[in-house]
Amino acid sequence: MQTRIIDGNAIALEVREGLRRRVAALTAAGVQPGLAVIRVGDDPASKIYVRNKIKACGDAGLHSEQIDLPATLTEAELLARIHALNVDARIHGILVQLPLPRGISGARVLEAIAPDKDVDGFHPVNIGLLAAGHPRFVPCTALGVMRLLEHEGIDPAGRHAVVVGRSNIVGKPMALLLLQKDATVCLCHSKTPNLGAMTRQADLLVVATGKPNLIRGDMVKPGAVVIDVGINRLPGGTLSGDVDFRSVLGIASHLTPVPGGVGPMTIAMLIGNTVLAAERTREN
Ligand code: NAP
Repeated sequence: MQTRIIDGNAIALEVREGLRRRVAALTAAGVQPGLAVIRVGDDPASKIYVRNKIKACGDAGLHSEQIDLPATLTEAELLARIHALNVDARIHGILVQLPLPRGISGARVLEAIAPDKDVDGFHPVNIGLLAAGHPRFVPCTALGVMRLLEHEGIDPAGRHAVVVGRSNIVGKPMALLLLQKDATVCLCHSKTPNLGAMTRQADLLVVATGKPNLIRGDMVKPGAVVIDVGINRLPGGTLSGDVDFRSVLGIASHLTPVPGGVGPMTIAMLIGNTVLAAERTREN
């Protein structure tokens, strides 16, 4: 079977072009969408992620604020910064880059963000809306996967979808979105016995584990759509996904590469959620 490689870079470019037009219309009407990105401490990967997000904001015509805070910051000080952004009219989206230093509760910090500015979609209100089937702000990576599928004309309805990984950031929202689109969803994790027996049942397989090359060709049903969310930096510096790309080639009908698959969509969806947040302020 010829495997179609899904070009996330090209699809994300298309999405961002559409967003630029919405940003221009909003800005002309006096509302320039604004995103604040808070980073606490010196995690090197976080520095790169934040830099990329701020650059994407500039490219799309958004106002952005990068707020770098020291690891010695107290939780109370961080909450105070978030409360100030919650009432700042120039800011429509607030993102706190994870992980946070020890001693700061991620849950309390995410709950402090006003749900209307929670463009990461991690606030319990937004998770609840997603679970109830009325999504407002949806976590960007899972949303990006749905846009990839839509672009490729892959309708999850009636398909057996298997999601490997159950994090709040990727796996759980992914399973909920696929369920909402009428897939029959199975959510696997590190305690799932005989993972291959589960993944081989999937018409649509989404993998988000952080385990390089966990999924091999013999774990994939011929003709399945395989979406690799994983981004793993191997010793030596090369990037690998959670799917063993080479062994799945020729078995899957569609496959996302790493890099250049899901990754670029995540940032595009973040910009999209910020634009949506700004549009919603005009409706209220
Ligand atoms: P995470 O919070 O560490 O969660 C990993 C999940 O995978 C957990 O649910 C874990 O199960 C499960 N898992 C681990 N080993 C497994 C195994 N051998 N078999 C089955 N399940 C296993 O990670 P995450 O934040 O969801 O991220 C997952 C991957 O996606 C990482 O590589 C990350 O870098 C990448 N990522 C990419 C993007 C993007 O934009 N492309 C965005 C976010 C994350 P338990 O719950 O039982 O521990």
